[in-house]
Amino acid sequence: MKKNQWKFETNQIHGANDRENCLGASRAPIYQSVAHRYGTGEELSEVFAGKKPGFIYQRMHNPTSQALERRIAALEGGPKALVFASGMAAITNTILALTRAGDEVVSANSLFLSTYIFFARFLPRYGIKARLVESDDPKNFQDRINSKTRLIYLETIGNPRMDVPDLRAICKIAHKEGIPVAVDNTLATPYLLRPIEAGADIVLHSTTKFLNGHGTAVGGAVVDSGRFKWNRKRFPDFADSINRAGSLAFSDKLWREYLVLLGSCQAPWHSYLTLIGIETLSLRMERHLSNAAKLAKFLEAHPKVKWVNYPGLASSKYHRAAKKLFAGKGFGALLTFGLKNQKQCFNLIRNLKLCYNLANLGDAKTLVIHPYSTQYVAFPEAEKISLGIKPEMIRVSVGIEASEDIIFDFKQALGKV
Ligand SMILES: *Cc1c(COP(=O)(O)O)cnc(C)c1O
Repeated sequence: MKKNQWKFETNQIHGANDRENCLGASRAPIYQSVAHRYGTGEELSEVFAGKKPGFIYQRMHNPTSQALERRIAALEGGPKALVFASGMAAITNTILALTRAGDEVVSANSLFLSTYIFFARFLPRYGIKARLVESDDPKNFQDRINSKTRLIYLETIGNPRMDVPDLRAICKIAHKEGIPVAVDNTLATPYLLRPIEAGADIVLHSTTKFLNGHGTAVGGAVVDSGRFKWNRKRFPDFADSINRAGSLAFSDKLWREYLVLLGSCQAPWHSYLTLIGIETLSLRMERHLSNAAKLAKFLEAHPKVKWVNYPGLASSKYHRAAKKLFAGKGFGALLTFGLKNQKQCFNLIRNLKLCYNLANLGDAKTLVIHPYSTQYVAFPEAEKISLGIKPEMIRVSVGIEASEDIIFDFKQALGKV
């Protein structure tokens, strides 16, 4: 049986396992070693020259991290993945690898906060323009493309707006213009959606979240679909990488000119922890998704809750798009809801006994946060409002506890606001 014929549930445990090189160990060992030794000068020279496979130095690669790269590539259905020190390292290295001074990116405007800051405040300092568009209509992306555009960027589920752009339509538009699409798939995970199958060229992850699943290690990943044709007028700087790596020109460039130079490699210990997490991804996601759906319904019916934003509710304007894109498997584990005001939100958080109040998501535990007064606290008021960050909004990352216990916790806490 060929490995790529395994189903998702099998692949998350066995996908791309190296059975030969671990002395029979049942999982990839932690190679906590900065460098790898070679018997002869000739041999090390051949490895450096790329004539012979082998590991050199941890900032370049590491066997434990490579095991994670291969597992994530297998789950996303791409030929190659690279892991990074964090989700933000994966995202920023990818965007830098695709842009030079004078270039432009067209991105959805509903983005993870640090990605938004990178586009809105960091890139302009280097002469790179990000045109942020309302993601609801694929035509908005089309309208902003010009001869300088080098990338279309979006999140499969926007955090925290919970919008679900029409990925297939956006990819069609981009490819007609010869532009690659990079997608942050952190919130959907490959369990809900494999963006490469929907047309995406590059898939990004904060593995910190659902892939790790237990809040134990920060990490990021970039999956190269190997499908985008870089030999176009728009990408003259890809010639060397095309010569070296052919269809994997992007990951070659990303590795050689960015990961290795900027030095945001993932520590082997983090790769090891994330490899353990990934083995139960499908089981956890099933529970995350069903718990989130139940909590969303409960909250929507509660008299003190003004509104609930969750793509799984018929009231969400993204409900139909999400149902189609995620093939009815579910709608993610994140939701936001509104109370009367900020004071009520703080009262709720103070009274929750089970759920944790912290800045993370995708943990086995149910997590809540008041984004307006935390992640976005230093933002100008007008910008918060334009990003949909309201003082009366709570964000929940629904965990995998018994749904009855999660709902009970919200019920008793809502009784006290
Ligand atoms: C958390 C997150 C990131 C950033 O990942 P880190 O691992 O914290 O650097 C990027 N995108 C999304 C959607 C996230 O939720």
